[in-house]
Amino acid sequence: MSDPRPLRVPGTAPRPVDWPAEEPASRIDAAGATDRGHHRAKNEDAFAVIQLADREGVLLVVADGLGGAHGGEVASRMAVDVVVGELTRRPLPADRTLRLALRRAVEAAGQALDETARQQPELAAFGTTLTAALVTWPEAWIAHVGDSRAYLWRGGRLEQLTRDHTMAERLREEGLVAPRQRVPSWESVLWNALGPSGEETQLEERHERLEPGDRLLLCSDGLTRHLADDELARRLAQRTASQELAEELVAAANLAGGEDNITAVVARAPAAR
Ligand code: CA
Repeated sequence: MSDPRPLRVPGTAPRPVDWPAEEPASRIDAAGATDRGHHRAKNEDAFAVIQLADREGVLLVVADGLGGAHGGEVASRMAVDVVVGELTRRPLPADRTLRLALRRAVEAAGQALDETARQQPELAAFGTTLTAALVTWPEAWIAHVGDSRAYLWRGGRLEQLTRDHTMAERLREEGLVAPRQRVPSWESVLWNALGPSGEETQLEERHERLEPGDRLLLCSDGLTRHLADDELARRLAQRTASQELAEELVAAANLAGGEDNITAVVARAPAAR
């Protein structure tokens, strides 16, 4: 008999949780990979892939830390751990209130960062992006802050489910620059992140009803700066297991330059029910 505890992969911190003994009917194949890349001294990305214990589903989280010294890696790790802790500490509520549960978990992560920054002045400038997907088959709730991304691959088509909360994207959205025009000095400047930045964090939320064969990709900008959407779609179309696919995506971004920390989390819905 297989182990009913959640699948843990490198990048997730161990955490004591009381898990129900029964096992979900089947599992969504989900996994992640992360790498420092070739140019950064350390990896400030963090992620978690958690198989839900009390129903068929997964919790996916990607965070990309910001802030000097050790701030970035502290912020991303803390945000991921708080979101995972909030959503796994007790049985999940009914499906119709999962959106609220996910929102509260992200808010709790923001509060944890805020409190930590107040206690440790050297972390005053820290913060993180956070992109989370709570999947209870076939429903998927997304919560998002920053410029990491969630994608849905369906039948060969790739859709970006989240907006990039960068100043450059805002200029494009508001029509101040052309839709495809790059604004190099603003491409990596965030107007919205999780952390004690003073400004209110705006949580972007989305719901999707998944279909058999769908794939979700959550990733940090270190992946998408090197791999364009058509390349992501081509790779997601492969029949590769999620662990191998996540590692392949990270390796491809490294091969293309690895200029930033790289994180990819992939979940594949079963092909047929
Ligand atoms: Ca990054």
